[in-house]
Amino acid sequence: MVMNNGVNTDDINIDIKNEDSYTSNFIRKIIIDDLESGKHKEIVTRFPPEPNGYLHLGHAKAIMLDFELADEFNGRTNLRFDDTNPLKEDTEYVESIKEDIKWLGYEWDDLRFASDYFEEMYNRAALLIKKQKAYVCDLSAEQIREYRGTLTEPGIESPYRNRSVEENLDLFERMRKGEFKDGEKVLRAKIDMQSPNMNMRDPVLYRIAHATHHNTGDKWCIYPMYDFAHPLEDAIEGITHSICTLEFEDHRPLYDWVVRECEMEHIPQQIEFARLNVTNTVMSKRKLKMLVDEGIVDGWDDPRMPTIAGLRRRGFTPESIRNFCRATGVSKTNSVVDYQLLEHFLREDLLGKVPRVMGVLRPLKVVITNYPEDQEEQLEAVYNPDNPELGSRKLTFSREIYIDAEDFMENPPKNYFRLYPGNEVRLKDAYFIKCNDVIKDKDGNIVELHCTYDPETRSGSGFTGRKVKGTIHWVSAKDAIPVEFRLYEPLILEDDDEDDDKPFLEKVNPRSLEILNGLAEPSIKNSAPHQKYQFIRVGYFNTDPKLTKKDKLVFNRITALKSSFKL
Ligand code: ATP
Ligand code: MG
Repeated sequence: MVMNNGVNTDDINIDIKNEDSYTSNFIRKIIIDDLESGKHKEIVTRFPPEPNGYLHLGHAKAIMLDFELADEFNGRTNLRFDDTNPLKEDTEYVESIKEDIKWLGYEWDDLRFASDYFEEMYNRAALLIKKQKAYVCDLSAEQIREYRGTLTEPGIESPYRNRSVEENLDLFERMRKGEFKDGEKVLRAKIDMQSPNMNMRDPVLYRIAHATHHNTGDKWCIYPMYDFAHPLEDAIEGITHSICTLEFEDHRPLYDWVVRECEMEHIPQQIEFARLNVTNTVMSKRKLKMLVDEGIVDGWDDPRMPTIAGLRRRGFTPESIRNFCRATGVSKTNSVVDYQLLEHFLREDLLGKVPRVMGVLRPLKVVITNYPEDQEEQLEAVYNPDNPELGSRKLTFSREIYIDAEDFMENPPKNYFRLYPGNEVRLKDAYFIKCNDVIKDKDGNIVELHCTYDPETRSGSGFTGRKVKGTIHWVSAKDAIPVEFRLYEPLILEDDDEDDDKPFLEKVNPRSLEILNGLAEPSIKNSAPHQKYQFIRVGYFNTDPKLTKKDKLVFNRITALKSSFKL
């Protein structure tokens, strides 16, 4: 398939027509129906991250849906931190999440914290007790699991199920006061231990955790469970469409039960869609945190991480991520999207925008023996033929240059069009050169090449005398600057399947980072953090914002090129 920008997407394993499946997605249809029927006057959505890690590409998709679906209908979107588990949450994560959402290009209406509703949630739980719809249970976590039954066997009722309202209210209040230890008691909904839906078998609503909360400090030692807290949060905020991932489909009856039995005035609707999975990528904060904690990566923003912070540092743009998320469509069935699709949207975004410059990753010296030692010249070269506004710079050409060692072979195979003894190639924006001699050290390693150039063949001179099949990039020995190039391979060697038994850390690619000390043309000397380039024939690169120092430029390869230059 060829897209309208001329980029061939044949090798991308996805139907890009999916973009239509975004604009015609089923959630959008529900919203339109609800507006037309008058069920809602205004659409209100929320993005509800738990601040227990950095956001990843999967979250970007949820963000895109939550914000864009509301925005399209002049609705509102809250950013709500679902901070009901003090053991895992941290303000560092709160700050990173805010930064990442803004960077992706979205603005929330209200900023909320679930923990701001703890008092109301407590009161609603007490209401359930009064209605005999909840009880304090002394079973241990393990016993609760045993009593719950299985998909084929019904559960067994807890011996504490029929405590009186008074006793339950008293115990619940004492749980709050801190009279019991962690795990000693829980508050459970009284629903149906026979229900075919396991989530309805008297789920736990509150647990005891003597832990300091990032927002409420030590005010609370009981915390609501997700299934109780989330519907209340949505109802309190007047969320109309509560969009979440497919694994919550079986929780929806409980979600509706909580809203109804807690007598919430506003009734939100939970709608599930298939989560985003990407090849060779993990989308679980828990696993990403393992990579950070084990020191396998250099933090949450390591350029190999699928976190928004990692993708940003690698050099992906907000546009490329948004377009990628849109192209993956909205579906009710889980699937795995090819990582190459993300790279495709990055190339599409940067195509005519960034300068094309020259850098050699593995420098090999070339002496042009027929070029006078005391001579040099300046060759005009445009930055990007697709974008004249970027202008041009002068390249120094002189007797000594560097090419990439990978562009030379002493004994080439058939159809090799780069440099080899006796062959002639074009130096990009300069001259034809021909290799005459290969100079080696005493161990037989190639140390330099001796070539001759043809002064008639200067780029732009209109020379038509003969043709060469290969064009290679180069830098001048006179003014090239040392730079560090960082090349990346996938961090995870296979698709991460939750169900296989292989320990996750065994799937990590030990060769996901390659650091090369290369040389680049001097025009890039003052690169700002995050400045992006296309290094001709090598790929798109981003100036690393953390590692780049005044005297040392570090470039992350965002993606290789699918280049017609590739020989
Ligand atoms: P993780 O398993 O990585 O911790 P999570 O779902 O627990 O993810 P939350 O902070 O609870 O993380 O997620 C916030 C929102 O992002 C939720 O609505 C969730 O459904 C959505 N989300 C998380 N992962 C994905 C994904 N891979 N694709 C689409 N949406 C996702
Ligand atoms: Mg979660």
